[in-house]
Amino acid sequence: MAEQARVIMGQAQAEGRAYLMEHESKAILEGFGISTTGSRVARSEEEAVDIFQSIGAPVALKVLSPDVVHKSDAGGVKLDVKSAAEVRAAFREISSAFQGKKLAGISVQRMAKPGIEAIVGVTQDATFGPMLMFGLGGVFVEVLKDVSFRSIPITESDADEMIEEIKGSVLLRGFRGHSADIQALKRLMLLISDIVVKNPQISEMDLNPVFLYPDGYTVVDARIILGEPRPAQPSAKHAPEASDLHDLFYPKSVAVIGASATPGKLGWNVFTNLVTHEFKGRLYPINPKADQIYGIRAYPRISDVPEPVDVAIILVSAGMTPEVVEECCECGVRYIVVESAGFAELGLAGKEIELQMKEIADKYGVRLLGPNCSGIINTHCSMVQSIGLVDALSKGNIGLISQAGVCAAGMLWGLRHIMDFGIIATIGNKLDINETDILETVSTDENIDVICMYLESVKAGRRFIDSASRITLQKPIVVLKSGRTEAGKKAVASHTASLAGNDQIFSEVFRQSGIIRARDYEHMFNLARAISKQPLPDREGVFIITYAGSLGVIAADAITDNGLQLADLEPELKDRLKELLPDYVGGMNPVDYTFSQNAEVVKKTIEIGVESEEVGSFIVVLQAEILESYVESLKGIDFKGKPIIACVAGKEFAMPEVIKMEKAGIPVFSTPEEVADALAIMHRHERRVKRMRAAKSP
Ligand code: ADP
Ligand code: MG
Repeated sequence: MAEQARVIMGQAQAEGRAYLMEHESKAILEGFGISTTGSRVARSEEEAVDIFQSIGAPVALKVLSPDVVHKSDAGGVKLDVKSAAEVRAAFREISSAFQGKKLAGISVQRMAKPGIEAIVGVTQDATFGPMLMFGLGGVFVEVLKDVSFRSIPITESDADEMIEEIKGSVLLRGFRGHSADIQALKRLMLLISDIVVKNPQISEMDLNPVFLYPDGYTVVDARIILGEPRPAQPSAKHAPEASDLHDLFYPKSVAVIGASATPGKLGWNVFTNLVTHEFKGRLYPINPKADQIYGIRAYPRISDVPEPVDVAIILVSAGMTPEVVEECCECGVRYIVVESAGFAELGLAGKEIELQMKEIADKYGVRLLGPNCSGIINTHCSMVQSIGLVDALSKGNIGLISQAGVCAAGMLWGLRHIMDFGIIATIGNKLDINETDILETVSTDENIDVICMYLESVKAGRRFIDSASRITLQKPIVVLKSGRTEAGKKAVASHTASLAGNDQIFSEVFRQSGIIRARDYEHMFNLARAISKQPLPDREGVFIITYAGSLGVIAADAITDNGLQLADLEPELKDRLKELLPDYVGGMNPVDYTFSQNAEVVKKTIEIGVESEEVGSFIVVLQAEILESYVESLKGIDFKGKPIIACVAGKEFAMPEVIKMEKAGIPVFSTPEEVADALAIMHRHERRVKRMRAAKSP
């Protein structure tokens, strides 16, 4: 009955109304097979009595007016009306309460029997488009804001997660005689998602309340808000095949326009980085005033270079870039990286220049990274395009996609000691190539095992969700999203919209996509270190070895708080362990060696734990003062796919040894809480991937 929906929406639009009244909204929902308390309209007392008689007592009467959004606030809802006389009285009361308002009539509908009150809604997010919301009614949404969101369209497992995620979800599964038909609720949510996909003019929706029963549900109140039909999500004509940008990351030739022979200039920095890291490709400095830079022949213009280059890095001033972009395009450059700043980030004039550049690049079908970025680092082809000078890097398996250019060079100076990057891509103003384009390309790079992203905004919206959902089943993605403020002004016509904080939407979208959201900078890099160096734990049990009882206890608490548990070793392994333990060591997990802990006993203890079916991961609390002695012994263990993270209190005072341990592939964290948090996140991710893969395979 999509036809009925079209008629109702068409009529409202013809009258210039965005808000569909309850009877209209319910008629649309009923047309799609959704069960409601009804949508009949009485225009007179007589009609009201007639409808009452055909429904049977009790009924509810409600005002229907294009001017009244919250009906009960103004006395527009009369419940439990049981006789013809009461119907007449209720009709008159509502009519007089809304005198002077435009009345479309008064709704007479059956009273729904009491159930668990829920709310299902739809709102628009500026980044991700239509979002489905679910929550329990009453104080749960009003006071606790206990709601979940997912980007539309949702999958069945999204619906499952939305229901499970809210704190009130225990009530639905059965509590003191109340329970809800979860299957029916899921069908309702999937149907709403589908209706919104098929009717893009629906902007917002509130089904509030929906009564949930042990068997089925009924929609008691509904409103739909129409908007401009949504434009298709910006997957655009450029939506790249996954490997589309491969040569941007592995170019055979790079030209630097604005390369300089003068130390201190950005054009010198960039070219120096390419030379000193020994880029494995051909380099062309472009500078009309130089014959050579670092002994490499320079050319006055890009058009003088004897071959069409794969990548041209542009470092000239903003005003000159459109001209240079055009020149690059004309002589067959495939990718342009604009590292200059002074564009949209400065205001309208800069934005204008950006648009010119974009138009030129589009005309030639050339892809452009930046502007206002710091290029790409790919250690696997020894390519460093950064604006800041970068010291020697090892080849690694971490991909980092970062919005802010400066964050790359500055932080790398330190981080390179304890983590190894494969690719670092800075995205700048995202004029053309955006975070999702890069994510898709980096995800197919076999040198990369884990992807970190620092984002301030997301450009590709739904495409980001679709790509990330697919990628996270293969490679973990850790995102640090900043700018965690509310999105400011919000249409308040629907309750759902007022509940949707911008930052919560990001969190929920990340969850929907299987992305791990980092709390802060350090958290992101802790997780990156752990995931890039260690396998994911495939079971809950944790085996803790410590020299300090307190740190063992803290670790035990922290793993339980995070949903993991202490592994209980099998009896024969306990016997083996007992033989190893000195008399004064009591517990079997945590094993607390006190002052006698050394590399040898820790190794032997781990080797027992590795054999256990119960152990999924290891936490070893190590002494900073003898940290080095552990490096070789831990390296020599066959962990059989079980992860280990070391906890070293005061590790910042033993950095040379920490670096050795990290280079040996064992992450070193400062506190037991950090370790437990990381292991739990890794385990949750592993479980989700398994569950999703199982759901996908028939
Ligand atoms: P409002 O526009 O104020 O949201 P509602 O239609 O939601 O108006 O009515 C307010 C409350 O009255 C609902 O939350 C529900 O508890 C109760 N109610 C409304 N209609 C019915 C009905 N048909 N059966 C049972 N309860 C109803
Ligand atoms: Mg309501």
